[in-house]
Amino acid sequence: MFKADIATLFPEMCESVLNCSILKRAKEFNLVDIKTHNIRNYSTDKHKKVDDYPYGGGRGMLMMADPIYRCYEFVKKNRKEDLKVIYLSPQGKVLTQQKIIELVKSKNPIFLLCGHYEGVDQRVLDLIVDEEISIGDYVLTGGELGALVLLDSMVRLIPGVLGDDECFLNESHYNGMLEYPQYTRPEVWNNLKVPEILLSGNHKKIKEWKEQKAIKITKKKRPDMLK
Ligand code: SAM
Repeated sequence: MFKADIATLFPEMCESVLNCSILKRAKEFNLVDIKTHNIRNYSTDKHKKVDDYPYGGGRGMLMMADPIYRCYEFVKKNRKEDLKVIYLSPQGKVLTQQKIIELVKSKNPIFLLCGHYEGVDQRVLDLIVDEEISIGDYVLTGGELGALVLLDSMVRLIPGVLGDDECFLNESHYNGMLEYPQYTRPEVWNNLKVPEILLSGNHKKIKEWKEQKAIKITKKKRPDMLK
């Protein structure tokens, strides 16, 4: 079973997404085991402090190493397995569909560390992190949205999660292309007709049409992908 743990200061933010749509369904079908952990609960400080000023000056606060490390140790002990630790970070490698396909095959539970404030004390990152992943070249307030993007895109690839296991195979980016245009009922809407070929019932011709359209759309919208 696919296992993941989110270490965060905002578990409720993650839970609200984990309890919707495909992620919820995957959990109900017992296809995934995803847990959230509030890093604050691992602080030994009497006020449950998790952040402090950066040495050497500078703006804002940093997440302290110890609560994060204790959370990681707790999860590792409970999972009884080594963890694949991913730190969501604007400094990481930018996420791609190929990376998602690789990660979802991970034998080890995935531990997603969500930073906040100005980031995280480097020492704990050096000690536990296997990989840093960014969801784009911009800065978010925290790693939670990144962790959820990562999980959503991974979980939909797990066999049994989507209604039809094959349905992601033609999707944009899966095979280095964008998807062809799609249409649903009614046949005519606002004087605009669905392409005739899709109503023909000729599966071979429809397949060819879809392939050609996918190439055309990729060329037009993302020529860089065809290089
Ligand atoms: N001071 C840090 C820097 O300049 O590299 C940015 C800190 S950011 C305000 C707080 C947290 O949000 C980070 O520790 C990271 O976990 C998360 N984060 C921000 N941008 C992200 C991105 N593009 N992808 C993934 N996580 C991101």
